[in-house]
Amino acid sequence: MRPSLLDPLFVPITSFTGIGPKIATLIARALGRESAEETRAVDLVLLPPHRVIDRRNRPGVAHAVENAIVTLELRVDRHQPAPRGKRNIPYRVLAHDETGDIALTFFHARQNWLEKALPVGETVLVSGRVEWFNGRASMVHPDHMALEKDADDFPVIEPVYPLTAGLSPKLLRRAVDGAVASLPALPEWLDGTLLRRQGFPDFAQAIERIHDPRDGADIEINAPARRRLAYDELLAGQLSLALVRQRVRKLRGNPVRGNGSLRSKLQAALPFRLTGSQEKAISEILTDMESPERMLRLLQGDVGSGKTAVALFAMVACAEAGGQAVLMAPTEILAQQHFTTINALAEKAGLRVELLTGRMKGKERAAALSRIESGDAKLIVGTHALFQENVSYHDLLLAVVDEQHRFGVHQRLRLTAKGSAPHMLVMTATPIPRTLVLAAFGDMDVSRLTEKPAGRQPIKTVTIELERIGDIVHRLRDAVSNGRKAYWICPLVEESELSELMSAEQRHAYLAAEFGSLVDVVHGRMSGVEKDRAMQDFKSGKTRILVATTVIEVGVDVPDASIMVIEHAERFGLAQLHQLRGRVGRGDEASSCILLYKAPLSETARARLSIMRESEDGFRIAEEDLRLRGEGEVLGTRQSGTPGFRLVDLEAHRDLLETARDDARYILNQDGELATERGHALRLLLYIWRRDEAIRLLQAG
Ligand code: ADP
Ligand code: MG
Repeated sequence: MRPSLLDPLFVPITSFTGIGPKIATLIARALGRESAEETRAVDLVLLPPHRVIDRRNRPGVAHAVENAIVTLELRVDRHQPAPRGKRNIPYRVLAHDETGDIALTFFHARQNWLEKALPVGETVLVSGRVEWFNGRASMVHPDHMALEKDADDFPVIEPVYPLTAGLSPKLLRRAVDGAVASLPALPEWLDGTLLRRQGFPDFAQAIERIHDPRDGADIEINAPARRRLAYDELLAGQLSLALVRQRVRKLRGNPVRGNGSLRSKLQAALPFRLTGSQEKAISEILTDMESPERMLRLLQGDVGSGKTAVALFAMVACAEAGGQAVLMAPTEILAQQHFTTINALAEKAGLRVELLTGRMKGKERAAALSRIESGDAKLIVGTHALFQENVSYHDLLLAVVDEQHRFGVHQRLRLTAKGSAPHMLVMTATPIPRTLVLAAFGDMDVSRLTEKPAGRQPIKTVTIELERIGDIVHRLRDAVSNGRKAYWICPLVEESELSELMSAEQRHAYLAAEFGSLVDVVHGRMSGVEKDRAMQDFKSGKTRILVATTVIEVGVDVPDASIMVIEHAERFGLAQLHQLRGRVGRGDEASSCILLYKAPLSETARARLSIMRESEDGFRIAEEDLRLRGEGEVLGTRQSGTPGFRLVDLEAHRDLLETARDDARYILNQDGELATERGHALRLLLYIWRRDEAIRLLQAG
């Protein structure tokens, strides 16, 4: 149970004045929370402003620079309401200081309100942007206005928070202020020496400093307050991961010892030779699983490096030992695909593979569940349906999670916490840099596939302006008539899934005019069966061009597809481009990737595309990605931080991450149950950062 000390931080934001359910929903969206109810005061407290407005500049009317934000001390001369019935003429309030005259301009104004706010003959403070027109100064809708007697409340340095459309900055700021004001006094959870060495303020001071900055420097990424809070966030993450790990280690492992019989059959059935790094990874995994400690291992390998085969060997070892193994994929398409490939190989080794997805219903589902429960099903492939309440396993020895970046940390925790304590293998195609591995997984053993399977051809990558789409269609016609296959990826549309799908359908129609029934489309709104059929037709060669939204991003395997067109490539992140490109170049044919972009390119987009042209090395691309993202751009707004984090920016806070990891390790060595005074304070930290799932593990253990 959450300590009641934290209650003020966990009131729903709707309890603040002015925040109704509608606005709460907007705020929830801006903060990436699931729902309005799930959005609590603490979320606002931990929302960093991304810039400040400095209202200290008081030049006087005559010296105000066009478009600069200034604060003016004015004497109000006269109100000039719009003529009756003419709503499009603004309401003007004329005022002056000793340097000159200015008109304060309001559209759709309420007269009584303005007469109270700006009484004739009084001195007032206003702040906003000054515009000049024909030598006359005006300020349209000042950001702030106050009577002289209320000047103390006038904002001087004003924090600005990232917004979602439809949410007014004033409302958000008011809600944040309310939340910050309700912050209870909390004990320090950080080590005193660390605080001094780093020059960190305490939690309350840090929160106050970022929401009430003295100037822009206070909210910079490396300001002490920001670093303190980033450290808290990192420590909460590392501590919860370390708790999971501690718990996993405590549960009795299930040593998996096979006799090699199925393994050699599988080896014989493979249509290719394993690469050296596949062999190495398999042996690391088998060694881990033989030991009495539970395995917690990450298998990292670039797209196409052959992770599935590695997983299959691990799974077969479990079957050999008489137990079960599951492989969990993030989407139905992928589960289906894994099932098909794994089943084909496993059959040769005399094994059946069971499929379980959310799509299966009725008798079919019941039959699969009962084979899983009885232990008849040894190798099981599926989606997250594999870990729903109603699925019970006979003797689950291994859980393999594919393409982890689609699963949240919490899902992973739940999986690990599942009673049967299977060994865990997490596979990722994103060649995550070391720092990110540490941040996302804590101390985890890692196997890496560093070689590509033999016979792979390099992929030729070119960038072409979207205007030349006609040339591309022309070239595709030649390619298709030579029997080649192409993916055509439609642009990422941030605003809505619906427009993404419309763009896919439009592109499909456009290409169909040229290619007829040789082109097909697959997108997220299609039913599972429709998607399967589209994938199947493309695989079999019935269709030759597959238009797709990013649903195909992860893991799809059509070895003879050799052309990848990505439309509006400038909208995609580097990691995503690399993933998409990895869908081709899997067969022995030379492949190409065409990045269609819309000019003009931003600085960062240009850098991304040129890295794509230069390199196929997933690790290099991932490092560059992190670097570029750190600099952030997206429509000119500085997007700070690292995805998945609120205050942490891994580029800037790399040093803190290492310290947090060591700190977490040290804490649990000294105080494994978080039972000391500092331990209790650290529990508060975990609640504040919504890592309390880890605390439940403590209590269960
Ligand atoms: P990923 O690591 O992206 O999940 P997959 O496991 O889907 O890669 O493998 C990509 C393709 O490479 C598959 O068609 C697979 O059969 C093939 N493959 C895997 N290992 C080898 C190998 N050692 N030699 C040749 N082809 C391989
Ligand atoms: Mg894969």
